[in-house]
Amino acid sequence: MQIPNEKVALPLLADKEVSLYVKREDTIHPFISGNKYRKLKYNLLEAKDKGKTTILTFGGAFSNHIAATAYAGKEAGLKTIGVIRGEELKENWKENPTLQLAATHGMTFHFMSRIDYRDKNLQKFQEKLKTTFGDCYILPEGGTNTLAVKGCEEILTNTDVKFDFVCSCVGTGGTISGLINTAKPHQTVLGFPALKGDFLKQDILKFARNENWELIPDYHFGGYAKVDEHLIDFINTFKKDTGIPLDPIYTGKMLFGIFDLIKKDYFKRGTQILAIHSGGLQGITGMNLALRKRNLPVLDV
Ligand SMILES: *Cc1c(COP(=O)(O)O)cnc(C)c1O
Repeated sequence: MQIPNEKVALPLLADKEVSLYVKREDTIHPFISGNKYRKLKYNLLEAKDKGKTTILTFGGAFSNHIAATAYAGKEAGLKTIGVIRGEELKENWKENPTLQLAATHGMTFHFMSRIDYRDKNLQKFQEKLKTTFGDCYILPEGGTNTLAVKGCEEILTNTDVKFDFVCSCVGTGGTISGLINTAKPHQTVLGFPALKGDFLKQDILKFARNENWELIPDYHFGGYAKVDEHLIDFINTFKKDTGIPLDPIYTGKMLFGIFDLIKKDYFKRGTQILAIHSGGLQGITGMNLALRKRNLPVLDV
């Protein structure tokens, strides 16, 4: 799968003599986050290899991973079960665009209280799920495991060696680990966490085999799925000026961060940056519903 790099031409970039390209992994599928697709690729093959007929995984109500698993599972001929955080959703999940989308692709849901959900990675808990739902192939929340990282090692290609920096959003750290493992020694991988948490570095160290990376923890906007008017405005302006849509949870925060760093002369003149657009656009509808409730400006669609 060869994904195009799109050049961004904006006055600030010319002014600072920095070039920026966006790898449009979001174009892999209109609703499915590009990186989730890559993370699922080898996991679905493994599930089939092991003779499993069902994938079971975990996520919150707006999870790109839930939406992607439903779609990719259907494509692979596997049943999918989503264990969803928040028992209250049992009554009104049909009002949630992400879960609606997943249901359209055949996923069935099991809603769980936030307290029970915390135990999702415990072996005992997973054994219990298997007695309820049969012998499923279980994927962790966010889909990150060794096979997911292997899929993300296919994002960078030979022609990407010209870049000095490769920028990635960070959620659970699977995507950036794949990039780190295939980046060349002269390249630095910069990770922009979408959430607060010192654990991220440790999580990445579980999978990353090189040391040419760094996290920039200043652009999470208060935490996972938290947004403010500056971010919304940046995303809308960026789309208007470049034609590239960004999502509010991951890629919008990363590009906001990249531009802020460029303004602050973090990058030398002549630097070539590649930003990985990991997708997430299916989340915009749900975010806009939440923003309207709070009387905040919404994302242009
Ligand atoms: C899930 C997701 C990420 C984070 O990927 P991790 O591998 O969990 O770090 C980044 N961008 C988008 C659009 C995502 O959906």
